[in-house]
Amino acid sequence: MLTISDLVVRYPKAEENAIDHVSVELDKGEFVCVLGKSGAGKSTFIRAINRLQKPTSGQISWGNTELTNLSEAKMRYLRSDMVMIFQHFNLIPRMTVFQNTLTGSFGKRPPIKNLLGIFSEQEKERAYQALKEVGLSKFAHKRVEDLSGGQKQRVGIARALMQDPQLVLGDEPVASLDPSTSRTIFELLQRIHQERNLLTIINVHDVHLAKEFATRIIAFRDGKLIFDGKPDQVDEHQ
Ligand code: ADP
Ligand code: ADP
Repeated sequence: MLTISDLVVRYPKAEENAIDHVSVELDKGEFVCVLGKSGAGKSTFIRAINRLQKPTSGQISWGNTELTNLSEAKMRYLRSDMVMIFQHFNLIPRMTVFQNTLTGSFGKRPPIKNLLGIFSEQEKERAYQALKEVGLSKFAHKRVEDLSGGQKQRVGIARALMQDPQLVLGDEPVASLDPSTSRTIFELLQRIHQERNLLTIINVHDVHLAKEFATRIIAFRDGKLIFDGKPDQVDEHQ
């Protein structure tokens, strides 16, 4: 489903490749956790998949579509199949939970409608449905800036669900949260993953969380793929 072949990402002026000749095939239904020390290339890997970061060479195919040479316009449409969940949530703090959730439908709408903030009844219904799915119905009309970190990430997930995604990418989505909140966010992501039969790929620096929730773990060191296997094959002391 997602085929990555000989991927290289090198930042301008960098001495080394941030992603160094990585090939890996990931399938629908897999909950993949990406491990590696800070600077190993996890974030670059995730960002290359949805083209927030343009690859230097190599191929990334999503189904039958080759992403690396796709025009920005086509990518924008396709990206709505893929959603990203961020460490710092990337929400609009002064807007309500409901308004933030609605912005998840922007990808597939004409830009002018977004500027005017016009949403159909159907879109509003979907936003309420998404908030219900993440357990935030009660908070719909609260401002995001008044929420706890865990609640903010739930809004990030509700916004992602608005796009009816096939692929969920997470760039350290729990790195700003305490351990017990992190766990509840992973439980939510796992439930959504299973109910919708997605491909989920998440960067995480906590090996224990990865081992508990992943069906497959990959690990990077210095931009190279150094491990690809089942959670119970991971040595926690490495
Ligand atoms: P991780 O997510 O595992 O911490 P990153 O993908 O952020 O790793 O970084 C991989 C490598 O690329 C590191 O050496 C980092 O310093 C470098 N890097 C990351 N972002 C940039 C950037 N925007 N410009 C230059 N180098 C970068
Ligand atoms: P979580 O991030 O999982 O919600 P917290 O310990 O941060 O966990 O918060 C526990 C509960 O306290 C929240 O679910 C919420 O009901 C309430 N809460 C926390 N912070 C706020 C806030 N700033 N405004 C309103 N309620 C809050």
